[in-house]
Amino acid sequence: MRIIDHHIAGGFNHAATRHGDVFDPNSGQIQARVSLGGQSVLDAAVAAAQKAQPAWAATNPQRRARVMFNFKALIEKHMDELAHMLSAEHGKVIADSKGDIQRGLEVIEFCCGIPHVLKGEYTQGAGPGIDVYSMRQPLGIGAGITPFNFPAMIPMWMFGVAIAVGNAFIIKPSERDPSVPVRLAELMLEAGAPAGILQVVHGDKEMVDAILDHPDISAVSFVGSSDIAHYVYQRGVAAGKRVQAMGGAKNHGIVMPDADLDQVVNDLSGAAFGSAGERCMALPVVVPVGAKTAEALRAKMIPAMAALRVGISTDNDAHYGPVVNAAHKTRVEGWIQTGVDEGAELVIDGRGFKLQGHEEGFFIGPTLFDHVTTTMQSYKEEIFGPVLQIVRAETFEEALALPSAHQYGNGVAIFTRNGHAAREFAARVNVGMVGINVPIPVPVAYHSFGGWKRSAFGDTNQHGMEGVRFWTKTKTITARWPDGGIGDGANAFVIPTMG
Ligand code: NAD
Repeated sequence: MRIIDHHIAGGFNHAATRHGDVFDPNSGQIQARVSLGGQSVLDAAVAAAQKAQPAWAATNPQRRARVMFNFKALIEKHMDELAHMLSAEHGKVIADSKGDIQRGLEVIEFCCGIPHVLKGEYTQGAGPGIDVYSMRQPLGIGAGITPFNFPAMIPMWMFGVAIAVGNAFIIKPSERDPSVPVRLAELMLEAGAPAGILQVVHGDKEMVDAILDHPDISAVSFVGSSDIAHYVYQRGVAAGKRVQAMGGAKNHGIVMPDADLDQVVNDLSGAAFGSAGERCMALPVVVPVGAKTAEALRAKMIPAMAALRVGISTDNDAHYGPVVNAAHKTRVEGWIQTGVDEGAELVIDGRGFKLQGHEEGFFIGPTLFDHVTTTMQSYKEEIFGPVLQIVRAETFEEALALPSAHQYGNGVAIFTRNGHAAREFAARVNVGMVGINVPIPVPVAYHSFGGWKRSAFGDTNQHGMEGVRFWTKTKTITARWPDGGIGDGANAFVIPTMG
């Protein structure tokens, strides 16, 4: 059986005694085993990072940017290989894996301009003979703990910025699809980053706890489900680290009576069922405003869902593939049963879906619920599968209140031709990322990504300038160059002012 090992100090570390199963979601079979490490493996990675980081931080930013340029070119060169590797463990279709890699690559492109964004601020003559300037310095060693659903994009959100600004970085990817981050670490070495600057340690809670408690790791970025995000945030902060921890989601799509329904159905099909619904920016809840809109939307959604093709991840005609593993399939199907038990109307049931020739694969057919209400547990919680829930609203205000009151606040979308309604919605909704006729409003790399409420703990977003702020600390220098006399007559025992 193939073993996926830690990647430390520029090579593979075979020290593991514990392993986890990595499945092929298309066949349901175990395809590899991933090493599960703990304190000693992490200590080895931290030691290598400590050795490499000071020289990397002292490398001028333009040279660090050149490594990013090289890395970008290598990812483009290996796009097909990476996409197949990603799909084979995650189950998303190849085109979607390329999108996953591309969105990460865009962060690397942002990092190619790092010399510009690292420039500090300067005030000449803040006082008599006094100049004030600031600089952004790296933190030292950063760590990332990432979820299974974007094994290329999310690691690159984190390590791209962290490394470009001068840190060493240790990533602990999801143990369900760990291969792509290892390959990215190899490509980073090939791009010219010194050994120890990007390392991969595998593991489960034991490794996560070791990272959170390690005194030589200064900052931790986490993306995953909310309960674990909250735990990581609290434990990391208690250990004195800077922590950003992104959590789960339940994104709503509001459909106003004037929306272009054909466009909405097309957008919803992709946003609710693409990647089998395993996206934190998926749209699993649709809120038609007014009974007429609800009936028309439902009537169009049913045939659109019947036309969806579920297939293996290398099927170029498939709209989406299997979910990541058997446990997740059972969980999603359990939520469908909960919806039925709670009294929602199950319009299309995707349970029991079997793909011919791949009967053991982790497939779930597209599922539609109507008349879902806010008191239902299946509405309150994240399902993270190919399940779309219709929650009907009578008015704009009622629709606006739904995502605003929900425990999660990652993304939301409104579909309308009315600019005033869209503007009002964007300003008032209590959610971090808003789409206006855009179903999946993931911000571009030079803006920043982050939800509100239980979708994010900590106060700094991923990538863009917020990422640069997260992975650096500001130093501010107040300098005086006297003209030759000693002092200026001010009382040295009083707090200095510029007055
Ligand atoms: P997860 O929370 O199960 O795992 C995330 C990471 O935490 C993994 O690396 C895992 O090894 C680790 N982990 C798991 N259990 C742990 C424990 N008990 N203690 C410490 N660490 C533990 O999440 P997942 O299933 O891999 O990913 C899906 C979740 O991630 C969904 O909730 C999704 O909404 C969320 N997500 C959020 C965003 C965002 O930006 N807000 C983006 C992508 C995914």
